[in-house]
Amino acid sequence: MTLINDFMSLIYPRHCEACANGLFKHETYICNHCKLNLPKSNYHKNDQNELSQTFAGRVPLTHGLCFYLFEKSGKVQKLLHAIKYQDQKELAQFIGNLYAQELAKTTIKDEIDVIIPIPLHQKKLKQRGYNQSEWFAKGLATALEKPLDIHSFERAHETSTQTKKKKYQRWENVEGIFKIKEQNVLVKKHVLLVDDVITTGATIEAAWLALKDIEGIKISVASIAFAARKQ
Ligand SMILES: [Zn+2]
Repeated sequence: MTLINDFMSLIYPRHCEACANGLFKHETYICNHCKLNLPKSNYHKNDQNELSQTFAGRVPLTHGLCFYLFEKSGKVQKLLHAIKYQDQKELAQFIGNLYAQELAKTTIKDEIDVIIPIPLHQKKLKQRGYNQSEWFAKGLATALEKPLDIHSFERAHETSTQTKKKKYQRWENVEGIFKIKEQNVLVKKHVLLVDDVITTGATIEAAWLALKDIEGIKISVASIAFAARKQ
């Protein structure tokens, strides 16, 4: 494996996905300098955080978590861009793994029962070939030793009436975007919903509308980054 890596780095010099500097042999995806200096939220140390406040009165979150804070034109945006548009799904998994190492030091690890990534639109999934949130969730699930559930929850197919409705509505109708395939497996479970970026929280709110009637369900969210509304 090392031989292959060395050979590959001769042809394709490896660089940090955040700052573009060359990587040392022992570094993967993100250089050590960026690992230490990227803007972490540390929200797992404070439940009264800005992400949780975004959902106040909308979604009864147990924990609102994100690894990084989004800054326009910053290094976190570069990471997200690589994950979404440059086929860097393994980078998302790697970041999930990094974040899990921090979460594992808290009691949050013991509280979570199952990890569910927000499903992608069928159309987008076909275009991109992968769901970046699923790869981030995979990194979290492996390192936290939790089950990853990509079957119970899905995006509802958009009907033509929904499309029509949207055209004439001034605000987005979040109800009916997601649906549950397997209700029973989620009864009394603490679900960690995972998305790549959280901004207004509309997607998570839509997911909650589909989940909220399941008996005894608890919900927390985790994303790679959170873009506070002031930006
Ligand atoms: Zn770097």
